[in-house]
Amino acid sequence: MPRSGFRWPFRALLAVAVCAVAAGLAWVSMRKGFNPGWILVATGAIAGALAAHMMQLFDGYEREAGRKQEQLDDLLLQTREQKNAVDAFADGLDVAIFVCDRRATIEYANRLAREMFNIDRPQGKTLLAITLSVDLEQLVLSAASGEDPQEGELSFSYPSDRIALGKAWKHSASPGRIYLSLFDISDLRRLERIRKDFVANVSHELRTPMTIIRANAETMLDDDDPELRQRYLPRIITEVDRLSSITQDLLVLSSAESGPVRKAPCDFADTVRATVSQLTTKADEKDLQLSYDGPKHFVIEANGSQMMQVCLNLIENAIKYTPSGTVHVELIAPADDGSDGIVTLRVTDTGIGIASDHISRIFERFYRVDKGRSRQSGGTGLGLAIVKHIVEAHGGHVKVRSTLNSGSTFEVTLPVGDVEVFQRHLREG
Ligand code: ADP
Repeated sequence: MPRSGFRWPFRALLAVAVCAVAAGLAWVSMRKGFNPGWILVATGAIAGALAAHMMQLFDGYEREAGRKQEQLDDLLLQTREQKNAVDAFADGLDVAIFVCDRRATIEYANRLAREMFNIDRPQGKTLLAITLSVDLEQLVLSAASGEDPQEGELSFSYPSDRIALGKAWKHSASPGRIYLSLFDISDLRRLERIRKDFVANVSHELRTPMTIIRANAETMLDDDDPELRQRYLPRIITEVDRLSSITQDLLVLSSAESGPVRKAPCDFADTVRATVSQLTTKADEKDLQLSYDGPKHFVIEANGSQMMQVCLNLIENAIKYTPSGTVHVELIAPADDGSDGIVTLRVTDTGIGIASDHISRIFERFYRVDKGRSRQSGGTGLGLAIVKHIVEAHGGHVKVRSTLNSGSTFEVTLPVGDVEVFQRHLREG
């Protein structure tokens, strides 16, 4: 404490002063011829009493100063604790918060605000300098000059493209301060756009077969010739089948998206083998060699019917897009110690392959490299979107390697999950 540092030097100074006064009085008395002994005693007593009184006085001041210092320390501690609590609260919010002065110079920014604009110490800088948004600065200046809060949807291009809802307001307690909140709605807008695109795509996909059905039916209505009927009826049936495939795939996609995956122990190896044998006839029809390599049983924690869907879509595609050669299905279980806990499904074909500029898009809904070919083979353009969604919802990944006119390999990796008991049971059984 600073006060104890002053205590002894101050007292020493007081003692020296009292001695000096006593010595001075004694010297003056001696010069005037008084008895120096008595004078010394008298002045010493007066000086002593004076010193004692002053000591008491200073002790009192010191105690008072000590108390005040303690109160000040407590107050400072409380203020610091309150500031830390407010900082922790503001930093935990999912909203970017700024506090600015009337000229939009930043006084405070919470964690999200600093992260959003990629700046460590925004204090003292203008809002315009760190956000490069004139609209945002204008929002704050309008709030500063008016009484009402100002709100608006703002687009930012720095440091990345973002859309946020901004609100700027002031409070009568500190009219010189403007509070600003920014709520990032980029993901919301992106999802809205995806939904709109999806609805447009679905409408388009449904309209095409419906138009064909209508045209064919009208032709048959105009002319009841049995030969015409023979020609147009199969077309109608094909288009109705296409409509039902699309709606079926849409239902599968929507049920896969409708909530968290319900997992249970599922024999993945058994599912893969069952799918391979289910599709053997299709492969035979095209003279393709369809083979499986992997364990007989391997249990993972997953949704059984969704795993079946993944296998079906990948192997069916491989057959569909392979005019001749082989389709090889592999299941690679993790090492016996289960250290990596990842199971890999690999489907390799010797088919038409995919050009590199299409690879990044084939998992999009309704994306087809060759629309005509896909339609001809009854494709909906949703198969791989379904695979990707299911695999990622299970915490896995799907990737593809392909060479045009040589073939493709689709690889799905999935976490095994906590199924040790079932694995052991199957091994022993
Ligand atoms: P589709 O119903 O058209 O097969 P998918 O979503 O299953 O739709 O696949 C999207 C597109 O990816 C297909 O139209 C096709 O162009 C391409 N594709 C998928 N699997 C293969 C494959 N094994 N070989 C070559 N191209 C493939």
